[in-house]
Amino acid sequence: MNDFSYWEQKYFWTNSDFVVIGAGITGLTTAVYLKKLRPDARVTILEKGVLPGGASTKNAGFACFGSLSEILDDLNHNGEDAVYSLIEKRLRGLSLLRELLGDKNIAYESAGGYEVFTNADEDSFQQCKNALNSVNAALRPITGCDTFHPADDKIAEQGLGNVKHMLYNGVEGLINTGLMMKNLTALARASGVEILNGAEVLKIEKKANGLLVHTAVGEMHAGRVCVATNGFAAKLLPGHDVKPCRAQVLITEPIPGLKLHGAFHHNKGYDYFRHLHGRVLFGGGRQLDKGAEDTDAFGTTDLIQSYLEEFLGNVILPDVNPKIDMRWSGIMGMGKAKNVIIEEVSPDLFCAVRFGGMGVALGTAAGREVASLLLS
Ligand SMILES: Cc1cc2nc3c(=O)[nH]c(=O)nc-3n(C[C@H](O)[C@H](O)[C@H](O)COP(=O)(O)OP(=O)(O)OC[C@H]3O[C@@H](n4cnc5c(N)ncnc54)[C@H](O)[C@@H]3O)c2cc1C
Repeated sequence: MNDFSYWEQKYFWTNSDFVVIGAGITGLTTAVYLKKLRPDARVTILEKGVLPGGASTKNAGFACFGSLSEILDDLNHNGEDAVYSLIEKRLRGLSLLRELLGDKNIAYESAGGYEVFTNADEDSFQQCKNALNSVNAALRPITGCDTFHPADDKIAEQGLGNVKHMLYNGVEGLINTGLMMKNLTALARASGVEILNGAEVLKIEKKANGLLVHTAVGEMHAGRVCVATNGFAAKLLPGHDVKPCRAQVLITEPIPGLKLHGAFHHNKGYDYFRHLHGRVLFGGGRQLDKGAEDTDAFGTTDLIQSYLEEFLGNVILPDVNPKIDMRWSGIMGMGKAKNVIIEEVSPDLFCAVRFGGMGVALGTAAGREVASLLLS
């Protein structure tokens, strides 16, 4: 039962043609495309947080599609077709995000990507070196160039320490995550999408003419519903292979004369760091404590934060004594397979979830795809 006033029910909490659950990059894009394709439809996003609260406002802002060691790891577990078609989707998704919002509104930088290898990563480096030509050949139709290049000569100019080898990928870039989400939210609102925060969806019930969405604060009738809750999807879509995975991050205080510039990967993409406003943003370490990090509870742990600090001091900023300004975490959606689940779950109920830690790259295209499906 709703406890809203006449005014609230008439102008804010009204039945909708489409309800999208979750105001992350996927939910917002889904809603934007629904309005683009059906301008007269009433589209409402129900978001449990005061701000979007999963990964879209917590991430590192890499406009990336996979480091070489990560691609090789994927090739060990999945067929070539699946791996390269996912890379193509990530690149197409990034183009769509840039087209939708404009490079200025996401502060896109063609900063280039690097993968670093320490002494402990020698085996991994040799595997990458041996596979470099064949992976570049397979990627050429997708990226239009030789993607990965040896870059040992650039280690010193990035100010790195204890890095033995480095690879360079000129196709990668960086975005400003906060700006992207602020402008995507503004675009959704300007398109006529209603965004209701503080509305956690608890249950979705099938009715004769659509669905009844039960939230912690009231019920809303919807013609069709899209679940875009990624790492939290299991709660509304039990039986789907989407598992929450926490990712922890830290950011340093500004560092005078910072040399580091670009999107850096280490250890099959588990660790990632970048320059940001004269600081270093560094995330990763999930591989150290996978059991504990398979959670949808936000928080940071001493184990992972100590690992990040040690790597930061030894490898990323060896000549500096960096001070940590902030630490946070975000929740990703993972599964056995790496592809996104975009489907009609049951009559009138749809989903776009499981972004495998690459939703900046995949979220926009997934939103557009599921919007078409919702209108079909
Ligand atoms: C630390 C970190 C670094 C990352 N770095 C990168 C990167 O550099 N590049 C990249 O491509 N990807 C990166 N990712 C992954 C990327 O951020 C995600 O894949 C992407 O943001 C997923 O977007 P989404 O909209 O699908 O989900 P989310 O952003 O998680 O949004 C889901 C929303 O649903 C809401 N919600 C959940 N349950 C309910 C409910 N029951 N009712 C109502 N609302 C609900 C949540 O509050 C949340 O706002 C990173 C992720 C993390 C955590």
